[in-house]
Amino acid sequence: PAVIVAIDGPSGTGKSSTSKAVAAQLGLSYLDTGAQYRAITWWMVTNGIDTDDPHAVAAAAGKPEIVSGTDPAAPTITVDGTDVAGPIRTQEVTSKVSAVSAVPEVRARITELQRTIAAGAPQGIVVEGRDIGTTVLPDADLKIFLTASAEARAARRSGELKGADVNVTREALIKRDAADSSRKTSPLAKADDAVEVDTTELTLPQVIECVVTLVEE
Ligand code: C5P
Repeated sequence: PAVIVAIDGPSGTGKSSTSKAVAAQLGLSYLDTGAQYRAITWWMVTNGIDTDDPHAVAAAAGKPEIVSGTDPAAPTITVDGTDVAGPIRTQEVTSKVSAVSAVPEVRARITELQRTIAAGAPQGIVVEGRDIGTTVLPDADLKIFLTASAEARAARRSGELKGADVNVTREALIKRDAADSSRKTSPLAKADDAVEVDTTELTLPQVIECVVTLVEE
């Protein structure tokens, strides 16, 4: 039977690297739900929608067609047929994604897409995000909640964004997590039945091994 693994947590905990590696090792599909929220945000920005106006965002939420490729070795994301893997990682999109993803119409649309993709994965899937274990796939076979200290998360993120000031990165991360945790509709949260893994003192291979072991148990 197909295996469904939900991996949630704030940014900079190693969610993406861990999820991709676990999916590849176990022969499962992989879905980055943050990329979907970034893609719809990119479309709003590109089409001149005021992302601080929830009514404008809600009215446009159904327009873009977002398609995710779920091979963990080469995940893809397109909007209306355009590859947006690069543009969804800009500072501008990152600073606006929390406001867009707080709009209930956006969440309803993206959640439905996520459930369809998960149901169609032949061997099963590793889905990473903020509300997967609580809202999107509450019946997942395994739920993981990754955490790490704010210092460790900011250091990892600055390492990815070469040359970025670690203090600026840290403030932006804290602000985004606070917004994601305090929104009314399916906030960033640990499911009651999730296994919490604190990655502060762990290397990436250690986190991957830990999650693979939990799946195989
Ligand atoms: O994981 P990543 O940092 O790329 O996610 C970008 C943003 O997408 C998050 O800060 C959050 O606002 C939103 N998101 C969400 N629910 C998810 C995944 C991401 O609201 N399941």
